[in-house]
Amino acid sequence: MKTTVKPTFASAAIHGGKGNKDQYGAHTSPIYQTSTYMFDDVESGAKAFRHEEGGASHVYSRLGNPTVEELERTICALETYSLNDPESYMGMAFGSGMAAISTGIISFAFGGHIIAQNDLYGCTSQFLKEEVPGMGITVSFTDTSDVRNIEKLLKEHSDTRLIYLESIANPTLRISDIKAISQLAESYNALLMVDNTFATPYHMQPLDLGADIVVHSTTKYLGGHGTLIGGAMVAKVELFEESNTFLFRKNLGGIAGPMDAWLTTNGIKTLPIRMKQHNENAMKIAKWLEAHPKVEHVFYPGLKSHPQHELAKSIMNNGFGGMITFELKGGFEAGVSLMNKVELCTLAVSLGAVDTLIQHPASMTHSIVDEEIKKAAGITDGLVRISVGIEGVEDIIADLEQAMGNS
Ligand SMILES: *Cc1c(COP(=O)(O)O)cnc(C)c1O
Repeated sequence: MKTTVKPTFASAAIHGGKGNKDQYGAHTSPIYQTSTYMFDDVESGAKAFRHEEGGASHVYSRLGNPTVEELERTICALETYSLNDPESYMGMAFGSGMAAISTGIISFAFGGHIIAQNDLYGCTSQFLKEEVPGMGITVSFTDTSDVRNIEKLLKEHSDTRLIYLESIANPTLRISDIKAISQLAESYNALLMVDNTFATPYHMQPLDLGADIVVHSTTKYLGGHGTLIGGAMVAKVELFEESNTFLFRKNLGGIAGPMDAWLTTNGIKTLPIRMKQHNENAMKIAKWLEAHPKVEHVFYPGLKSHPQHELAKSIMNNGFGGMITFELKGGFEAGVSLMNKVELCTLAVSLGAVDTLIQHPASMTHSIVDEEIKKAAGITDGLVRISVGIEGVEDIIADLEQAMGNS
């Protein structure tokens, strides 16, 4: 989008990905639901394959698709919003958050070492622990909220290519000092990759804090309505080229489909206003929970009791997001009872939808996980996770109150 003045973040979310005017003047971009593209003649096809000027702009939708590209421009505009050189960056959209994460990890850490945060999203953790080590990449894990742990590992592993962490990590909603870690990464010639799914670019822009690559599960807040599975990655074009990330996406085949990309682009249009409300509701609920007699502890970066509240304030914008975890005094039984009694809140995994989703890891997602592993991951028996929705906050509180009240 070309404008004379720089648009606000809210406008960038709506207009940031717009391409050429549609041939029929459609107000909403059409969905290019096509596998392949016609060439005018052999020469235009040949040029397209040689990436030469004057060739067809598209060849096959595993390589690129106009609907997917609109999403890629949109996400790039948001993640690079505060940078001076946004035009040197680009977005890549994927069929899932895991497709973005795995493709990124393989391309950026190829043949080297990865230093990863120890409490990562479950599938990312499994990929790094069980699959990546067989591919000629080694991995070490640490608590990245203490920068000294990272420096120690960087000294031990001179072949470190990649440091991997999440902007806000499950389940304790821990935050890492991305600015300090990015400086460390630079001085040791490593890249910093941040999964920004929980914070979203509305609350945090890791590239502006010095990270090299940002990834997303767009399934969550960016899509925002629980209607799709998708992923995205933003980094400098140069870095994607050096790391063959385009080739990896093409050949691993994880690009987003046009329909999901279109749903995501439309979801992003309301991201700023949704996040504003997610944040406002979450702050109220976190405070309410903190004062509740049946609650042992609340984890929310916006609370003064959060061990990294000051850091959160310094690296996050516009508040602290919509994810809360809390520990029930009544342990496992209290968790199960709460899950079975909620009426407005939906008992489901995932997060970032307009409606409030609640889950109890000990009885659900982590019920088959070993005690030791659960303990290491911070999953205690009474731990409950809420993805606070944008319903009337008084209704969410009333629902939690009735569900917790007689447990
Ligand atoms: C959901 C999620 C993922 C995985 O994304 P999918 O779209 O389910 O593949 C990765 N990281 C975080 C933090 C997530 O919440």
